[in-house]
Amino acid sequence: MSINHHLSEGLILAYAAGSLPEAYSLIAAAHISMCDDCRAAATAYEALGGAVIDDGDSAALCQDSLAKTFARISAPALGLPVVVTPKAPSVLPAPLQDYLGARLEDVKWRNVGMGVRQCVLKTKGSQTARLLHIPAGTAVPDHGHGGLELTLVLKGAFSDKTGRFGVGDVEVADQSVEHTPVADPDMDCICLAVTDAPLRFKSFLQRALQPFFGI
Ligand SMILES: [Zn+2]
Repeated sequence: MSINHHLSEGLILAYAAGSLPEAYSLIAAAHISMCDDCRAAATAYEALGGAVIDDGDSAALCQDSLAKTFARISAPALGLPVVVTPKAPSVLPAPLQDYLGARLEDVKWRNVGMGVRQCVLKTKGSQTARLLHIPAGTAVPDHGHGGLELTLVLKGAFSDKTGRFGVGDVEVADQSVEHTPVADPDMDCICLAVTDAPLRFKSFLQRALQPFFGI
């Protein structure tokens, strides 16, 4: 797989440190499961983090520190890197199969207009992770974001003014980017998109409908 668009160093570092919210951790894990370069970088950062802990000075512990540690271990894993376990071959990478199952045919889609469909994943935190199905040759409505948007292509490809994104590529768009992703004309595009604020669609009608579709 030829991947041209990668996670930023900062995102890989935050992923390896376990400091990303669940939705960003999920998309980072999904890209890393497809990308040898980013997997090598994440492994190096994890090793570095372990070395820093090993070299650190020891400190006196509180009496209840053991109980607190066990409580954190059994608590929901918000912020921890999503564990990648081997799964059956599928368009959906292993980290996503934990949320959606292995079969694309079983995904519960909702129409969001213009033939575009989405499935919102259940993740903790204020971010939203959604699987998007964009018909061949179709544009996702022109939008900007209130925050960071990551989009990982799982099938097909899309292009916008910043470039073309194929399978395994991840687009990192901050709030300065307003773009109109268009799926390639010969194949539907399926991608995972994570946003940390509602998308800002530009037309009045789209803005009016936004609360009803949850986009
Ligand atoms: Zn990469």
